[in-house]
Amino acid sequence: MNVLLVEDERALSHEVESFLASQGFNVDVAFNGKSASEKIYINNYDFILLDIGLPDYNGFDLLKEAREGGCDAAFIILTARSETDDKIHGLELGADDYLAKPFSLPELNARMQAIMRRKHGLTSNTVDIGGFVMDLNSRTVRYSANEVTLTKKEFDLLHYLALNRNRVLTRMQLTEHIWGDTMEDDYDSNFIDVHIKNLRKKLSAHGNIDWLETVRGIGYRLNL
Ligand code: CA
Repeated sequence: MNVLLVEDERALSHEVESFLASQGFNVDVAFNGKSASEKIYINNYDFILLDIGLPDYNGFDLLKEAREGGCDAAFIILTARSETDDKIHGLELGADDYLAKPFSLPELNARMQAIMRRKHGLTSNTVDIGGFVMDLNSRTVRYSANEVTLTKKEFDLLHYLALNRNRVLTRMQLTEHIWGDTMEDDYDSNFIDVHIKNLRKKLSAHGNIDWLETVRGIGYRLNL
């Protein structure tokens, strides 16, 4: 999952960034509206955590601009202001949630997970893929009583395929999602093939994985 954190308070930004990285997110940071706006234009984010009081921008304007530009990331507004007017304004402009500072990091994570579940029509934090059960909180995969040990990247790949089940994901989409925007210069589609191969090997040692389809010349699809 790619996250853009837009926050001008450096200490808070650093704290949130470290926490999200420890939870397996790829995190980009912007300390002002201009830099955020450029990053939103170039990259694809799953989440944008947006401070309203930025030095050069009103966060609401940034949200409005991003939505008008077709950005479909989930926005969570971060603000020290506690007025309900702000909250309503943000939600009207298309924010997905709202957190008043100071907030707890586990709460931020829980809200992000809840948004993901809503967005992808899931009702709990576990996803069943042909008998393989992914637990999104503990980031584990089990098949009946056995735990399947996956690397972070393998887990993220499987999770992303599961969230987009029954849709073909191109190698480029998978690469962007797993590595964020850091790979652009030396993009190599083989990276994904190698990770999928390892993933298949680990999963198929436990059970049938016919649901993981290679779409020749394009990418992969998880059929459920
Ligand atoms: Ca601020």
